[in-house]
Amino acid sequence: MFDLGTGLRYFGHGCDQDGNFRGVCLLTHMHWDHIQGLPFFVPTLRPGAHFDVYAPVQEDGRTVCEVFRSLIKPPTFPVNLDDLPGTFEFHDIANDDFTIGNYEVKSRLVPHIGNTLGFRVSLGGSSVVYLSDHQMPLDGSMAITDGARELCDGADVLVHDSQYTPGEFAQKNNWGHCTIEYALWVAIECGVKTLVLFHHDPGRCDDELDAIVARVVRDGAAAGVNVIAAHEGLTLHV
Ligand SMILES: [Zn+2]
Ligand SMILES: [Zn+2]
Repeated sequence: MFDLGTGLRYFGHGCDQDGNFRGVCLLTHMHWDHIQGLPFFVPTLRPGAHFDVYAPVQEDGRTVCEVFRSLIKPPTFPVNLDDLPGTFEFHDIANDDFTIGNYEVKSRLVPHIGNTLGFRVSLGGSSVVYLSDHQMPLDGSMAITDGARELCDGADVLVHDSQYTPGEFAQKNNWGHCTIEYALWVAIECGVKTLVLFHHDPGRCDDELDAIVARVVRDGAAAGVNVIAAHEGLTLHV
């Protein structure tokens, strides 16, 4: 799985609840919206469960495990991380290439606020890229770092930050995100087949999102990129 947001609680309903859970998370970074679901993920709250979490090395020298220990503890949570019944194994990574089972994983540090990773997962010639939080150039120009390009190059599916309209970005250009137009530019520039707009601005309502998506779908189709908007419960077949 990618990240540990609040959706994790609902995802857990479909997982083993009897202590046989085995899972792996590729975690982009430590901001609240990406980690808050962890202590509420019921499958790991059972003796015998095992959860591997791969996350970026921290700028302050702490390990990922130390950061989680500092967050999951009283008074903000009833018990300490180490008192949760399942076993958690944290792996500190940066620009790495590794395998998880049969899956090939590529992690690259990407521009955001604080150390943040993007991931590319490949299996049998198919690839999914997850770039949830991606700072575009502050002046609004279109450019991409080598690491992000390496992830996106020719991907079947790119799940990409699409938080702002250009007008919103002008007000919040250093908040770590990008425009919907930038997401489409990345997809076209890197030869991506399907772009999944993700990390919508939290203030956006469904009607606003529908209007945005209709426009980007049209622009994407003209450039040969299939565009869809991510929503809760969406399943994609690659
Ligand atoms: Zn973030
Ligand atoms: Zn975020």
